[in-house]
Amino acid sequence: MYPECFDGSVGCFEDYTYHITLDPKVKPVVHAPRRVPLELVDKLNFELNEMEKNGVIKKVTKPTDWVNSIVIREKPNGRLRLCLDPKDLNEAIMRDHYPTPTLEEITPKFAGARVFSKIDARNGYWNVKLDDESSYLTTFNTPSGRYRFLRMPFDALSKGLGAVLLQENKPIAFASKALTPAESRYANIERELLAVVYGCEKFHTYLYGRQFVVESDHRPLEQIRKKNLDMAPPRLQRMLLRLQPYDCIIKYKPGKEMGIADTLSRLSPREGDEIPGMQVKIHHLVEFLPVELQQIKDETAKDGTLQILTEQVMQGWPDSIKKTQQAIKPYWNNRDDISIQEGVLLLGSRIIIPKSLRQKILQKIHSGHQGMEKCKLRAKSCVYWPGIYKEIENMVASCCACKKFQNSQQKEPMIPSEVPPRPWHTVSADLFKVNNFWYIVIADYYSKFPFVKKLNNLTATTVVNVVRSIFSEQGIPEILICDNGTQFTSAQFQDLAKRYGFRVVTSSPYYPKGHGFIERQVQTVKKILLKCKESGTDPSLALLSLRSTPLSATLKSPAELLNGRMFKTTLPVKIHPPNDWHETRDLLLTQQKKQVNLYNRDSKEKPNLFQNQAVQVQDPLIKTWSPARVVGFGPTPRSYITEDESGVQIRRNRQLIKPDIQKTPGPTSPAAVKDNQSEKTNVEIPDRPEVRTRSGRIIKKPDRLM
Ligand SMILES: [Zn+2]
Repeated sequence: MYPECFDGSVGCFEDYTYHITLDPKVKPVVHAPRRVPLELVDKLNFELNEMEKNGVIKKVTKPTDWVNSIVIREKPNGRLRLCLDPKDLNEAIMRDHYPTPTLEEITPKFAGARVFSKIDARNGYWNVKLDDESSYLTTFNTPSGRYRFLRMPFDALSKGLGAVLLQENKPIAFASKALTPAESRYANIERELLAVVYGCEKFHTYLYGRQFVVESDHRPLEQIRKKNLDMAPPRLQRMLLRLQPYDCIIKYKPGKEMGIADTLSRLSPREGDEIPGMQVKIHHLVEFLPVELQQIKDETAKDGTLQILTEQVMQGWPDSIKKTQQAIKPYWNNRDDISIQEGVLLLGSRIIIPKSLRQKILQKIHSGHQGMEKCKLRAKSCVYWPGIYKEIENMVASCCACKKFQNSQQKEPMIPSEVPPRPWHTVSADLFKVNNFWYIVIADYYSKFPFVKKLNNLTATTVVNVVRSIFSEQGIPEILICDNGTQFTSAQFQDLAKRYGFRVVTSSPYYPKGHGFIERQVQTVKKILLKCKESGTDPSLALLSLRSTPLSATLKSPAELLNGRMFKTTLPVKIHPPNDWHETRDLLLTQQKKQVNLYNRDSKEKPNLFQNQAVQVQDPLIKTWSPARVVGFGPTPRSYITEDESGVQIRRNRQLIKPDIQKTPGPTSPAAVKDNQSEKTNVEIPDRPEVRTRSGRIIKKPDRLM
């Protein structure tokens, strides 16, 4: 369909001419010819001749309103590239001069629609013919006289993206915009895909619900829709989600066949608004201390290799690894998944750690003294650098604590046990001694989550109490598997099982003795505690790392399997809120509001007390009520002076006084004691020194107040 349009050097769309519409209010500009360095004059004349021969430019003999400048650049091959300096003309170009056709106009024959999308062209092709009138607007001055362009002449001075909707090889609608500064910092592949998103969304009315082809000259986009979303860099993920409503396939077209969109992307790109929804903040991806984030940013900026990598990701990668700089060759295979957010390089959503921080991260990965495979799994969810797995292997192999407590013999073969139907359905308990302390471990068969508690002694009572406390926090399991230790066979423990309603199993066909689950758990926990003591590290953090390390490449961590949520650890990992977070938050807020209302209404409704009224007064410390009567007001709102049966007077807030319904004699005078504030105040604190008892009573003579 296209080859006949392009002769291999300068192609054009046969039946299409482009018209430049100028704002009549803008005055034409005539530039004086720019000086051309003497040594370039010959080369310039050569290029002008070539361009004239190819029908790109033509000599101008008559006077013109506009005379532009040209920009001359030397190409690597020594030849010159001539571009029109579009500054003045760009300002005069009417922006919305492509009448967008209505859907009715194009629907009847709207089949086989194609969208070209294009960004940041580096090669210029003059594929679109200008009509005669427009051609004169592009007149430019050279030492050898004036010329005008017959094809669209702009080359890329500002970065933009463009899209053309084509039908039957004819452009129907155009769209282009300049990249915002933020967008121009996207990784190259992100910008390429952004152009596709932009094109699809701009032409949504025409494209939605139809099959169409998007043509891009960026080859990696061909495969991108097949990508596993989870592995893609976060901004690419968003773009892919945005493309999901469209029934399109992305096809690679070599750049030189992409002329029209190419040209468009650099034709007077409109000062673009940022394409919304593409903001990705690093804290959306990973959670860690701001200090650590800053450190990673600073060290990335100082890391020579990562700076080369940043540059390459922004520019786009060459088409072969041979043309890639030596330092960043190790990143070649992952090149399409690398992006930059706020000065931090990411592979997918894993942080690429600068060299200076790798040792520190390695230590964090190994904080639980887990084996190689587990450590690799931990790293895989959050951090990356080339060779990280090898370094993990070396670190684990050379860890003194790990070496000392290496498995002494080959593991016994595992006997598979039945998988319980849900978390915390079947648990197993065992006691063990390490570093001179006894511990109990209760581990869940489903999630492999171990609870570890130190025991003060080995009595049945102690074991029962620990088990009770764990079950009160986690719920009661159906089955507890244990050995025949006296603590578990004790009457006390059997009684607990009966009262709580779980089955104690010491052996069964499904959970044969020696199946190894709890033995392995004990060994793992024991080793962690030993290694921590040996290396002087925090055993709690080590157990946390055990609980939050994925069980395998496909299985989640014990924490997630048991609790349905990730645990925050010392490694930067993003913990996502639960799916029903919004709903729950609304319900929680509603409930809080209700409670506040109830509380306030309650306090508002407390009636005023009357002089001489029989009341009960609460002692704020021991919370008991004792009879008294109201004898006056306190110095602050809502406080009263009451006198108890022995004649002792105290000042109390209304909150601590309630009418004694049985004894209330009624007001001596209506509203004798006014309560003019509905605001709740706390327990009264006397504002001047007074004689007080230990319970806060103020001792005064009755007659002084009456
Ligand atoms: Zn270790």
